[in-house]
Amino acid sequence: MITPNKHYSDLKDSYLFYNIAQKTKAYLEKNPDKHLYRMGIGDVSLPLCDAVIKALHEAVNDQATKENFHGYMPECGDPSLRETISRYYGEKGVMVEADEVFVSSGASDELGDILDLFDRNSTALVIEPAYPAYVDANVMAGRKIVHLASGEENGFLPEPDDSIKADLLYICSPNNPTGAVYSREKLQMWVDYANKNGAVILFDAAYEAFIEDETLPHSIFSIPGSRTCAIEICSLSKTAGFTGTRMGYTVIPKELKRDGMNFNEMWVRNRTTKTNGVSYIIQKGGAAVFTPEGQKQIHDNIKIYKNNAKVLMEALDKLGIWYCGGKNAPYIWLKCPNNMSSWEFFDYILNEIQVVGTPGEGFGACGEGYFRFSTFGSPEDTVEAANRLVKLLGR
Ligand code: PLP
Repeated sequence: MITPNKHYSDLKDSYLFYNIAQKTKAYLEKNPDKHLYRMGIGDVSLPLCDAVIKALHEAVNDQATKENFHGYMPECGDPSLRETISRYYGEKGVMVEADEVFVSSGASDELGDILDLFDRNSTALVIEPAYPAYVDANVMAGRKIVHLASGEENGFLPEPDDSIKADLLYICSPNNPTGAVYSREKLQMWVDYANKNGAVILFDAAYEAFIEDETLPHSIFSIPGSRTCAIEICSLSKTAGFTGTRMGYTVIPKELKRDGMNFNEMWVRNRTTKTNGVSYIIQKGGAAVFTPEGQKQIHDNIKIYKNNAKVLMEALDKLGIWYCGGKNAPYIWLKCPNNMSSWEFFDYILNEIQVVGTPGEGFGACGEGYFRFSTFGSPEDTVEAANRLVKLLGR
């Protein structure tokens, strides 16, 4: 009899989004005439931009003709798209070679698959509160996990210290759920720690396009020393509305080696074994994101989400509620007023003003007492939610 991977029984049920769905469903059953203001969604609400739609249509037409039809794509990505992404880095002053860029089907896929490169006896460090997939992917692999709690005292951006014993370091900046962004100086500390200890940083840059303070790093590879200790995982999901279209990219520098093994070469071997590449049509749509027209259009959409953030931040400022994020990220992380717990605050604003957010406790124990608002909702709902919060909590 085949033995299943027993580590799956170590996974904790994720009650967060299930509970939210149950509570909102129960509320609507009791109050069918009410509209909910959903400030908890992690999905985008705006459609793909015109440049992407046009490219997708053209690619579909290509597949209909003998001359332009494409079969299997190169496993690591269309070479011209890898070049394009390397130029995108170059425009930000970061040198990344085309064959260090791997086109992917999104960050979630990569965050799971990339663990193939590391020994299962290694230890992963997860800075909490955290995107839940980091923990679960390592539990499935049976890897030991150490949790590093963060809090208001360090702006939810903890620094490394020698008491931390870990080999794989997850850093998400701009962060989901806190919206906090590491400065160059603090990121340098993690890079130095990783190089000193032979660790590898998995840098999740899914929200880099939301950074507007240009002193903040968009990429770990803008930090000296990072090419010998980091892998960067990116996504077009939030940047360009690809949550349902699926494309991302991962950067593995050729200098990244441990024990005489080269992670870039290992990943080429992995991809050529385990995938047959991202579809031609999707890569064409993804390439359109990096055209001048595509960049303008995606940033027009990002501005709409940023305006939602501004509206919510103004409401919190008026109420004198502590928060971080919002400015360089699509998430706002606030302290629940009146010492309420995350779920108490969830119930309170659902029942009183029909606003739905995400309880911080769902992102790790140190998220208790905090709450996440997402800025991906509609502008109309966001304005109404902000007004309702001010009215309720300003009493
Ligand atoms: N990383 C972070 C921090 C995220 O918040 C998300 C999605 O919400 C992902 C990765 C997954 O992105 P993708 O849609 O590319 O799989």
